[in-house]
Amino acid sequence: MRRWVHDITGFFFPLYCPVCGNVLHLPGEVICLSCEQKMPFTHYINDPENPVAQLFWGRIEMEGAFSLLRFEKGSKYQPLLHLLKYKGHRKMGVFLGRMLGHALKNSVLSQADLVVPVPLHPKKERIRGYNQSSLIAQGVAEITGIPLHERILFRRENTASQTRRNRYERWENMEDVFGLCREAEGYSDLTFLLIDDVVTTGSTLEACATTLKRLPGAGIYVATLACA
Ligand SMILES: [Zn+2]
Repeated sequence: MRRWVHDITGFFFPLYCPVCGNVLHLPGEVICLSCEQKMPFTHYINDPENPVAQLFWGRIEMEGAFSLLRFEKGSKYQPLLHLLKYKGHRKMGVFLGRMLGHALKNSVLSQADLVVPVPLHPKKERIRGYNQSSLIAQGVAEITGIPLHERILFRRENTASQTRRNRYERWENMEDVFGLCREAEGYSDLTFLLIDDVVTTGSTLEACATTLKRLPGAGIYVATLACA
């Protein structure tokens, strides 16, 4: 029945693979099989010295860090994250989150106690209607079986003019960006798996990790869909 409905709606509104532009045929498909198989996977899940882990060396102590995909400049896979972030393609978030979950499943990162998405600016979330990191985190939680806690961290409103600051000023400014929810005050000896869509400088994830580390005995893993 679902297949039939998909065929009918697909006849009037064909869905296209955002990477190659070919028509998608299977129900629930968000990218074609051929493009899925050729995704730029990093494959360094079991390497504790991988480039994403190294990004945080000398900055903050973490138990491990990982990105599923590596995006070179102008990568034809960039539209996947663009659709997720700016075009309301929520299915893409959960789909990619599940993919990340499968990569994490048999790794040391799956030993985390809670999956925690990086919060979006409240204003941005209101406009967008969702937080893309939460969608990814849902997919990760579903596949790994690790419980999801979406609201342990919150993001304060006023962090404008970030882009006009240099890296040090930005870091100083990032320190107060995130807070812990009241419920978390009783938490101790938990390991968190922080989830974001992309890691570039790592300053957002560093700030989230710093905030979580205020909890006694907190351990941190980081996993993102892509690194740029
Ligand atoms: Zn394709």
